[in-house]
Amino acid sequence: TYTIAEPCVDVMDKSCVEECPVDCIYEGGRMLYIHPDECVDCGACEPVCPVEAIFYEDDTPEEWSEYNTANVDFFVEL
Ligand code: SF4
Repeated sequence: TYTIAEPCVDVMDKSCVEECPVDCIYEGGRMLYIHPDECVDCGACEPVCPVEAIFYEDDTPEEWSEYNTANVDFFVEL
């Protein structure tokens, strides 16, 4: 799955939402989240993010690695 990390916080540009073919990017309080079970790993969202907040989960920079979990937890809590 792909992950949205810290650069999205308080930005929520939503260019990625338009690109996602399976509509698996959802709006949270301060950022967007990718549903890990719905994401088909197509990568379409990554290049359109103006703040480069989207990473394939294994490529998420270490300082933002907690966002891999945050994207999962957001949907567990729903
Ligand atoms: Fe949607 Fe593809 Fe991005 Fe996954 S990788 S969130 S399916 S656009």
